[in-house]
Amino acid sequence: MHSNQSGPPVQASRERVIKAVAKSSTRESSAVGTGADATVTAVNGVDAQSPQLDDTTPVIGLIDLDQVSDAYERLRTAFSGGTDVLHAVACKAVPLLPLLRYYAEAGAGCEVASPGELDLALTAGFAPERIVFDSPAKTLSELKRAVTLGVSMNIDNYEELDRLDAILDGRTTSARVGIRINPQSGTGTIGALSTATQTSKFGIGLADAGAREALIDAYLARPWLNQIHVHSGSQGISLDQAAAGIEIVVELAQEINRRAAQTHGRDRQVTRIDIGGGLPVNFAGEEITPTFADYRAVLAAQVPGLFDFDIITEFGRALLAKAGTILTHVEYAKTTGGRRIAMTHAGVQVATRTAYAPADWPLRILPFDPDGNPKSAEEVPTDVAGPACFAGDLLARDRVLPRLDAGDIVAVPDTGAYYFSNPFSYNLLPRVPVYGYRANQGAVEYALIRRGQSREEILAEAGEPEIAPYRLVQNEGDS
Ligand SMILES: *Cc1c(COP(=O)(O)O)cnc(C)c1O
Repeated sequence: MHSNQSGPPVQASRERVIKAVAKSSTRESSAVGTGADATVTAVNGVDAQSPQLDDTTPVIGLIDLDQVSDAYERLRTAFSGGTDVLHAVACKAVPLLPLLRYYAEAGAGCEVASPGELDLALTAGFAPERIVFDSPAKTLSELKRAVTLGVSMNIDNYEELDRLDAILDGRTTSARVGIRINPQSGTGTIGALSTATQTSKFGIGLADAGAREALIDAYLARPWLNQIHVHSGSQGISLDQAAAGIEIVVELAQEINRRAAQTHGRDRQVTRIDIGGGLPVNFAGEEITPTFADYRAVLAAQVPGLFDFDIITEFGRALLAKAGTILTHVEYAKTTGGRRIAMTHAGVQVATRTAYAPADWPLRILPFDPDGNPKSAEEVPTDVAGPACFAGDLLARDRVLPRLDAGDIVAVPDTGAYYFSNPFSYNLLPRVPVYGYRANQGAVEYALIRRGQSREEILAEAGEPEIAPYRLVQNEGDS
């Protein structure tokens, strides 16, 4: 698969921003020990407009904004020409308001799967008809809200379809509604991310006995069902496999339309195919491969009929992963059992998947010295550890790296989707601040994307002040 990196050089920009951050960073924060007032503003970079690494902000997330716009442009270009295409960015990959607002202003749509994501998409400025609501467990009130708002919906199962029938009560809806199909087209290399297996939890299995006829009947009985959804791609799934799932669904749509024309005289009932997201990302190097153009080419060759329909895409990872970098410093370094161990502040709270499923989600580690220059030292087998209190909290295990020392900087690239934007609050480790940057030419410019979480906010999420009105512990003297 050939691909080219037409856009701004991600690596050069990343090295420039790391240098700039290193320059403004100190190993010790002036805020430490100076009392409550001083710490409030400095905790996790709450008020800082330009990022630095120090005691109070030992880890940050960085997003290359040139790369974000470039990737979206590559997607638009790849699918341009022909039918109407709505690129609904998958909210869960990067639930950060200013980035979603960028996509809304760029004319994209948004794929959401929970009430929170729906609210975020509306707040970011996506028009309801450009929002696609996909959760597999929509409640009755969520369905009613979606109908009222007029957001597009993909129905997961027949019980959900019955609920929608009851809500509509014989009326049609202006909202575009589809059914999510499981083409049962196979498993990829990552089991937990394979959506098109024989027994996947998502959608209606098309290959099960009687399923095809039942689905066609469901469409024929409901003229407002005018969309079909499949999300068969993902990390670990080849383009051919993803296209095979889409092909099965396009054939179903064509059959529904034939039958609807024959039996009901309807002109093209299904007009839009939602092909989902799931373009894999190269986590092993700088190269962007496969590209959106590669995917378009595979689809054009393998499923030409797709382009007779309007199309929704729902990409997340392929739009954002390459733009993101986790930056932290080495707090301590030691050698145990012959293994170099670099203790950093980036662990399970910003790289949850990698900590819990390291074989499925390996990340590159880029070591820099305290001044932000690529580290050169004797290469030794290294564990790059996070701060959490469990032994598996490692970003890399037994990786051969230039020997890391306290004060060095560790960059973890390709983390712009599903990493620092999807924090995990284990050990009450705070959500880290996220900065956008442009370092394409000359000076580095920053934009705060999400503040770090303050100690006050951590406490506020820790529950009620006390267990009331019950007392679990009886005071001494009570009977
Ligand atoms: C997660 C998800 C996506 C986005 O997948 P990526 O692999 O990030 O492109 C799109 N559609 C649905 C239904 C999803 O669940």
